[in-house]
Amino acid sequence: MNNLRNLRGTVDLLPDQLIKWQNVEKILLEQLSRASIKEIRTPILEMTELFIRGIGEGTDVVSKEMYTFFDRGERSCTLRPEGTASVARALIQNGMHTNPTQKLWYMGPMFRYERPQAGRQRQFHQLGVEFIGYESVRSDVEIIAFAWDILGKLGIEELNLEINSLGDSNDRLNFQKSFLKWLEINKDLLDLDSQNRINKNPLRILDTKNIQTKKILESAPKLFNFLSKKSLERYSELKNQLESLKIPFKENLNLVRGLDYYTHTAFEITSGALGSQSTVCGGGRYDNLIKQMGGKDTPAIGFAIGLERLILLAGKELDNERRTDVYIINQGLLAEPFAINLSRKLRDYDLLVELDLSGASFSKQFKKANKVNSKSIVIIGDQEAANKEFVIRLFDKEISGNEEEVISIESDIKLEKWLNNNLLSK
Ligand code: ATP
Ligand code: MG
Repeated sequence: MNNLRNLRGTVDLLPDQLIKWQNVEKILLEQLSRASIKEIRTPILEMTELFIRGIGEGTDVVSKEMYTFFDRGERSCTLRPEGTASVARALIQNGMHTNPTQKLWYMGPMFRYERPQAGRQRQFHQLGVEFIGYESVRSDVEIIAFAWDILGKLGIEELNLEINSLGDSNDRLNFQKSFLKWLEINKDLLDLDSQNRINKNPLRILDTKNIQTKKILESAPKLFNFLSKKSLERYSELKNQLESLKIPFKENLNLVRGLDYYTHTAFEITSGALGSQSTVCGGGRYDNLIKQMGGKDTPAIGFAIGLERLILLAGKELDNERRTDVYIINQGLLAEPFAINLSRKLRDYDLLVELDLSGASFSKQFKKANKVNSKSIVIIGDQEAANKEFVIRLFDKEISGNEEEVISIESDIKLEKWLNNNLLSK
């Protein structure tokens, strides 16, 4: 039995670590709700075909990283490696014509078979935001500003925003012609992976992580130089609007998403505070995806943030846990059921109440209350329980002569008054 372990690249998140996760998630949910972005939940398990069509066969994710298996009905299933394809499928399937513009978010586990390292796991988590049915530059600006602001709200420092434009499908076709010519001449200088992509998906070569290939690509034609006047105007408008919002950005002509359905804006937010896995947020416009997946022609833009990297970056202040308001010390046959009853009553006041279930001596329970640094304690012995009352006392080390009161379980007024004076108003 003692060699049962979790799978490589997956992690257990323990209560102490989850304090930060929960604080981060709380801020994220608040910001999403304030921007009127609505949640969507899709299955974690989907048919493999969805990701092949929705992410693209030539990508690393689909060709190397997916958790794919046959279920008992011999259907090929895949644990989702990302969220956009599922959201697009769900919208098409559930009839999006009733609501042609939607601002949506999702959050949850994603699975990719990669080499685990700091900030890279096989089961990891993403927050994704998708603006569906929006075409204007303003929607690009809103979504980038939103991503920028939530990272700022979490106290993340050394943020860099990089942007690029990929033009429309026509611009891309023109570029591809000239790029293919260049590839023909320079083929032998590229890494094997990239060579294999020449026929499958040449644009994807631009996305390579191979350092040698990256260097050689510097002399290749640049997609940017093939953008039409209209695409260039759209891109300058994006830059103007970001400037007027005082969101600093860098242009990175090598930032690509090498698939046909990506269009115009691509962006990434990195943090200098992360090591080699520095990208926290990646996003872009995908005007042709929904149509390509069988839906109506629907422009859209989205991003995904990696939560593990967010947690690595989030400020120290997010490590704080809510302090216990009341610790209930209790012992005895009559006292114990009475204590459960009181804990339920106190929790209705939105107080954090910890009921001691140890049955240990009063002095041990006192020590525990001290250890959890409770703001107050309740003491119940059989004597108190028989009288249907309890003792409540402030338990603040800083305050001497801590206020103590005996309160009857039937006297809500007296209880409320004590709570108001000592806990609720603070
Ligand atoms: P990377 O270059 O790090 O592999 P990617 O281009 O594969 O990133 P996306 O598919 O754009 O990443 O996903 C968006 C974000 O999700 C990334 O910026 C990152 O923060 C996070 N992410 C992606 N893969 C992993 C992983 N295996 N473990 C943890 N976080 C990840
Ligand atoms: Mg990756």
